[in-house]
Amino acid sequence: MPIIRYTRYVVVPMFTVIIAICSIVLGKSASEPLLFVSSVLFLGLVMAEKRVPYAFFLQLVTLALFHWHSQLNWTQILYYLLTVLAVLDYPKRGYTLAVSLLYSLGYTAVRLSYQPHTMYNLLVSFYDIVSFVLLIVLMRYLFAAEREKRQLRERNDYLSTHDPLTGLLNYEGWMEAMRNLTSRPDERYTLLLLDLQGFRSIGTIDNKQEILPAFSHALQQNFAHANIIARYAGDRFALFIPQSAQPLVAIKQVIESNRLGYEVLYSFAVFPDEGAQMQELVNAAEERLFQKKRQRWLKNEEDFFRSEKLRAVGELAAGMAHEIRNPLTTLRGFIDLSRSHGYNIERWFDVITQEITRMSELTGEFLQFSKPHISNMRLEPIGACIDRVRHLTESAVTSKGHTLDVDPVDDLVLIFMDRDKIVQVLLNLLRNAIEAMDEPGHIVVRTRVTASDVIIDIEDTGCGISEADAARIFDPFFTTKERGTGLGLSICRKIIEDHGGILTVRSQPGVGTVFTVELPRGYGE
Ligand code: ADP
Ligand code: MG
Repeated sequence: MPIIRYTRYVVVPMFTVIIAICSIVLGKSASEPLLFVSSVLFLGLVMAEKRVPYAFFLQLVTLALFHWHSQLNWTQILYYLLTVLAVLDYPKRGYTLAVSLLYSLGYTAVRLSYQPHTMYNLLVSFYDIVSFVLLIVLMRYLFAAEREKRQLRERNDYLSTHDPLTGLLNYEGWMEAMRNLTSRPDERYTLLLLDLQGFRSIGTIDNKQEILPAFSHALQQNFAHANIIARYAGDRFALFIPQSAQPLVAIKQVIESNRLGYEVLYSFAVFPDEGAQMQELVNAAEERLFQKKRQRWLKNEEDFFRSEKLRAVGELAAGMAHEIRNPLTTLRGFIDLSRSHGYNIERWFDVITQEITRMSELTGEFLQFSKPHISNMRLEPIGACIDRVRHLTESAVTSKGHTLDVDPVDDLVLIFMDRDKIVQVLLNLLRNAIEAMDEPGHIVVRTRVTASDVIIDIEDTGCGISEADAARIFDPFFTTKERGTGLGLSICRKIIEDHGGILTVRSQPGVGTVFTVELPRGYGE
């Protein structure tokens, strides 16, 4: 504390000299040379602070000597000052009391050695001792309070510029430190920004409490030449490194050799080349870091989609294999039976043919998935497609006792389409409608035409679709039929979407279902 140093090196010597001069001038001193010697000894010991063993005791002895030679009560102030210096660093109250008592007794003893022992002088001595001790205790208390206040203030200042978790500078501290450093631009610096990757997804809060200090330690180790190291936001760190001490290549090497122990994204900006103003410099580096983060994010996203696609293909293949293995097991069973027991399996030919048909249907439909791209796109009348579908399904409809109504469509209504694919969609939907009706029912194919779209409703009076099933009917392999493949609707939806249209469904269980195909209308040149 400056005031203590000031007291020791200025105030005490000053009083000593004044007292010595006054003593000589007033003719009090018995021996001027001894007065001089004792004052020099005393001051020497005071300035030596605690470097001399028993300093505090020797100081008292030399002070007493000086006092005795000066024969002036004014020395009391020196006793006070020395006591204060002696007790300041010791928080124990008992110690303070003992030292102040010793010093005041020393003073009183010397004083009474040159003054008559009158009642008055004895009372003054008593008064001196009591007031001395009281004053010292009070002073010490004031000093302690003042010191505490100062420590609090320092801690406060520290916290407003530092990050409590890592002990590094925070944003305010970082900016201030950079401004201070660059106020004398005699050096080129690298501003390095680091983003601790995936930090938010690493472990628990407790874990994070350990990672941040560990990472900041790694930074201090690897960038020992950095003038500034800051944690300026949650998982962001900034370093300011003089290029003469650690050039760019060396910095890059540290990061890329993974010596920091954690995955980081980083960016640079060079002072003063890329910004003499701090904000400008920081913005340049931040922008680069942002671009890197963006690239990283896009790459992650891409990886994610690729793996999603793979997953879908995997699911499809697994479903397919499962569907084909069942009929194959049946067939194999028949053949084994026939071979080992010489059974005539002719009467099961129907079942066998059915299973084979089912497999070829399944693989046929599955092939549609592997040929997702619509080809052969032409502007063609939708009415022709609908007519064709009607012809293809007519016998199936009438054989079951259903009726089929098809709205006529103007030949001028065109759609840019792959005709075979659209026919396939309508066929699938009609076949589903027929299969949905156990009792003789009614199917309507209704076409509405707007300026931009053609909307085809395929309506049946079948069993309908429960709400739970409705969410899944477009999923590949979802079927409620004993011999269904569950591929029809998923293929339909894909084809319609490839044409820029949509396929939707409305249904009421027990009443009927309407599938709606909406396709964008095409116009000739
Ligand atoms: P599949 O016809 O081989 O079962 P789809 O993908 O064509 O496969 O149809 C999936 C399921 O959607 C059917 O099993 C059925 O439960 C339901 N479904 C489709 N069309 C209709 C309809 N018109 N009425 C009632 N349910 C339907
Ligand atoms: Mg079907």
